[in-house]
Amino acid sequence: ARDEDNGDIAVIGLGRFGCHLAGALARLGHQVLAVDHDAAQVQRWSASLDRVVQADATEEEALRQLGIGDFRRVVVAIGASVEASVLTVLALTEVGVPQIWARATSRKHAKILASVGAHHVVFPEAETGERVAHLIVSRMLDFMEFGDDFAIAKVPVPPPLVGHRLGELALQERYGVMVVGAKPAGEPFRYAEPGTVLGPGSILVVEGGIAQVQQFATLR
Ligand code: ADP
Repeated sequence: ARDEDNGDIAVIGLGRFGCHLAGALARLGHQVLAVDHDAAQVQRWSASLDRVVQADATEEEALRQLGIGDFRRVVVAIGASVEASVLTVLALTEVGVPQIWARATSRKHAKILASVGAHHVVFPEAETGERVAHLIVSRMLDFMEFGDDFAIAKVPVPPPLVGHRLGELALQERYGVMVVGAKPAGEPFRYAEPGTVLGPGSILVVEGGIAQVQQFATLR
C-alpha cells in the first residue's frame, strides 16, 4: 500500500508544535492521522482534526495497529520528552516508514534523532529564533535562509530606491542582491522585470548572500 502515496501523513504528538503542523497539513489538503498518548489532548483536538487517536507511539505494536506501516510520511512532533521522541523514531524505523520527520529541541537531540534513523530533522526553536533575529535588526518582513550563504527576504522598498525602475538600479552590482518579485501597494505580488517601478509602499522579494540581503534591508 505504501507504494501508492495517497498523501496521508501521520503526526505524532499534539503539543504546541504538532497541533499547528497537523492543522497546516490538513489545510494543504492532506488526510492527517494525529496521534497522542494523552487522552486530554486527543479530546481537545478531535473536533478540529479529522482523525485523532490515542496511542503510545513508542510502542511498535501500537503503531502497527494504527496502520502506520501504510504511511509514507510520519512526523514525530514530540519535543519535551527526548526519550519518547527517540523511542518513537526507533519504532517507526522498525515499522519501516520511508520518510520519518522528527522535531528536535536541541542540537544534541537533533544528532540523536538522525543517528536512530530520522530522515529529516527540524529544529523549530533554532530556526525561528534565527529568522526573528533578522527581522528585528532590519526592515525585513520575512526571511528565509537556505544554507551556503543564500537567503530570500520580503522587504519594504528601501527609501533611496523609491520611484526608480529596477532596470536602472543595477542592484546586483551595487548591493549583490536580486529582486525577484514586487508587490505595489494594494496589489498582488508580480515577477520583477526591468520595467518594474518601485513605488512608495511597494514590498519586494529579494535574494542573495545573507549579509547582502541584510544590508539591502537596512538601506536608508
Ligand atoms: P510542544 O513544545 O510542541 O508543546 P510537547 O513535547 O510539550 O511539545 O508536547 C508533545 C506532545 O506529545 C504532548 O501532547 C504529549 O502528550 C505527546 N506525547 C508525548 N509522548 C508521547 C508518546 N509516547 N506517544 C504519543 N504522544 C506522546
